Amino acid sequence: MTSENKPDNKDLPEGSAVSVVAGVAIAKAEEKAAIEAAAKAAKIEAAKIPKTEPTPIHGNGTAETHPLTWRLKHHQQVLSIDTYESLEGYEGLKKALKMTPAEVQGIVKDAVLRGRGGAGFPAGIKWSLIPMNKEGSPDVGPKYLVCNADEMEPGTFKDRLLMEKLPHQLVEAMILVSYAIGAQTGYIFLRGEYVLAAKNLNSAIYQAKAKGYLGENILDSGHNFDLHVHTGAGRYICGEETALINSLEGRRANPRTKPPFPQISGAWGKPTIVNNVETLCNVPAIIVRGATWFKGLSNGRSGDAGTKIYGASGKVKFPGLWELPIGTSAREILALAGGMQDGLELKCWLPGGASTDFLMPEHLDLAMDFDTIGKAGSRMGTGLLMVVDQTQNIVSAVRNLEEFFARESCGWCTPCRDGLPWAVKLLKGLEQGEGKAEDIDVLLQLTRFLGPGKTFCAHAPGAMEPLQSALKFFRSEFEAGVRATKVDAINHISVIQA
Ligand code: SF4
Repeated sequence: MTSENKPDNKDLPEGSAVSVVAGVAIAKAEEKAAIEAAAKAAKIEAAKIPKTEPTPIHGNGTAETHPLTWRLKHHQQVLSIDTYESLEGYEGLKKALKMTPAEVQGIVKDAVLRGRGGAGFPAGIKWSLIPMNKEGSPDVGPKYLVCNADEMEPGTFKDRLLMEKLPHQLVEAMILVSYAIGAQTGYIFLRGEYVLAAKNLNSAIYQAKAKGYLGENILDSGHNFDLHVHTGAGRYICGEETALINSLEGRRANPRTKPPFPQISGAWGKPTIVNNVETLCNVPAIIVRGATWFKGLSNGRSGDAGTKIYGASGKVKFPGLWELPIGTSAREILALAGGMQDGLELKCWLPGGASTDFLMPEHLDLAMDFDTIGKAGSRMGTGLLMVVDQTQNIVSAVRNLEEFFARESCGWCTPCRDGLPWAVKLLKGLEQGEGKAEDIDVLLQLTRFLGPGKTFCAHAPGAMEPLQSALKFFRSEFEAGVRATKVDAINHISVIQA
């Protein structure tokens, strides 16, 4: 209670009933004023938070322009097989079953469909590594098709949308690809937290079986295929295809030695193809409309073919996902997200997940495709931008990412198992202003010791990408975290005195 509003009860006897009543009344008035002030402050804060608008995932497209999401223009989600069939559903599969497996592979190879999980390896070439017989059909014997639906890359949520809202699209794609590679069994290796996706996919599989799209002798083609949803237990490393296969087999999720590659010896030692959700979902439309149409979708913006589900997260006005021609610039994607929140400026951005190098505002006009972003010193990765604004300390941002990577290391090889926690320790020191001058050199060394070719898989090199680029662009922020030692202080004073 302040002296201004203290009750003037000097004439009242101390502790009298009247003074107590007056004190209670004033206390209540103050409490009411405090509540009103707090409500007013909360209202002002709430006004600063941008309104969430429905995410325009499907744009204004059609089947010709937005092959992945056009059906969502007509329905918020397409869960029933009848609805899906009324919107060209299972047309790609029916057409493919009238071709030979080699012809289906040939169309996808001609379309130059590059993997949308981040690596960008052409799907048709991957499939062609499956052993074939002299007649151009996949060799007889067990083979597996696995969909990598683990989607644990921070800032990435595109596959979730495709599986929750359009489960039949993925089911159709997997049946079609199983025919092209001669697989009899398929697994959707799904991130465990994606409970709704699991429910919708299982329902779609059940409906597809009832209609004869799954099981034995699919649509009288002689092809047999069973499909299962396998939920993961929550490890980032399961996004690496051989670690995923180990996990699927019930083993510890460590990456395997390559070669042999999974196309020759994958799940249970048999030829196996692992493709990402978005990659697979492109296949039915490619078969329906052809390779030339698919290559034209980028509208000359890129040497890559097709569309891409891009997205933006961080302090933008409207985080979301948009299916756009591949090669759309980051500036256009950011504009669809409404730009930065009011009062904030873009400091830097990650183009496609946590394991990519930071790019700067001057890179915003580059085409978001595999080669262009690669030449700029980063990777397109999953194509979902994460923005960093000028109020964020880059050392803290990188420490946060490296903590994630250190926690998710499978521990198989020493540089990654020991190097990542070491980087976190040094970053924490710099973040708290307790770093040593040599820490920055040690961090730079770690980016080399954990770089490509030094570890068993790409986890550690990926973890080094945000760190090495932050050191390149924002070295002064790291230097600001170096604690001034006595020797530094004396040297500093002697320099000033000289
Ligand atoms: S680099 Fe890391 S995640 Fe990959 S095998 Fe080595 S310890 Fe495991």
